[in-house]
Amino acid sequence: MPKSMCKRVAVVTFLMMALICSAAAKNAISVHVPLPPSNPLKNAEEQKQQNSNASVLFSGKKLPTLGRAVAIGYYPSGCLQGGVELPITGPTWQVMRVSRNRNWGHPELVNFLEHFAPIAAKATGWHGILVGDMAQPRGGPLPFGHKSHQIGLDVDIWFMPMPDRLLSKDQRDNISASNLVAADGKQINRENWSSADIAFIRTAAEQPEVERVLVNAAIKKELCRVESNDDKSWMSKVRPWYGHADHIHVRLKCPADSPDCRAQPAVPSGDGCDKSLNHWFADWILRLKIPDNSGSAKGLKLKDLPPACAAVLNAPAGPTSANMGEPSDAR
Ligand SMILES: [Zn+2]
Repeated sequence: MPKSMCKRVAVVTFLMMALICSAAAKNAISVHVPLPPSNPLKNAEEQKQQNSNASVLFSGKKLPTLGRAVAIGYYPSGCLQGGVELPITGPTWQVMRVSRNRNWGHPELVNFLEHFAPIAAKATGWHGILVGDMAQPRGGPLPFGHKSHQIGLDVDIWFMPMPDRLLSKDQRDNISASNLVAADGKQINRENWSSADIAFIRTAAEQPEVERVLVNAAIKKELCRVESNDDKSWMSKVRPWYGHADHIHVRLKCPADSPDCRAQPAVPSGDGCDKSLNHWFADWILRLKIPDNSGSAKGLKLKDLPPACAAVLNAPAGPTSANMGEPSDAR
């Protein structure tokens, strides 16, 4: 084909394409359905929330969401829909630090505590148990004290018998738990330690819904020393961790109703009394001044949590609990 002809064909093709395109554009305009106007203010608001500090957002929610209970995400990165409250006083338990409003959890955690309290009391000879932090009403990162406790399946329970009287709000906020670990961190504090503490830890670890019980390494070492019983299946669940010198941390398995709850890797088999325990007594580990419960999660932003947590945060509140706030019945 001569060059000039080639050029003409190209020009004609171009003109035809342009016509087709403009016709298509006209058609498109004729069938155009107007979209609802986008709300730039709302989008900016959502964006701002996503970049906000999640512990501030979640600790600001004083009530749980409506709806069925679901644990969402991972123990140190998630939230809780439909949380329920553990009553601050029961026949064999009292909740401590009530003013923190952290006595919330997945119903399986509340059920666990209600059945564990009397059997722990029986196993130890105590009047009952003192319950520390569980989760915030909607879970999520806590502004201080813990890295986990975010999905309503973690609870701290004190190494101290419940007294045979009702503690006042003030006492619950100010009494400290007994420290069972010596100052050097290498062994237990024999002044405070008793065989009831072993029964307490063991009873918690023996519950089938319990996934792990975290204790200070010196306490784990003492259990390894005195527990000569052949049945050590419960011992594998008792794991050494930083802090945890004045309380146990009980973690439940992901509940069946929570498909978006991420399970932790299974505990290694065996009683955990092998030489892996020695690592905890290395000088550099003992020198680490890691706060109890190994830090906090206050650096997390909302966008760092599972996307469903934004919906949990913004959902309508559930009904007010009968016993929120002050232990009005306490002396
Ligand atoms: Zn804890």
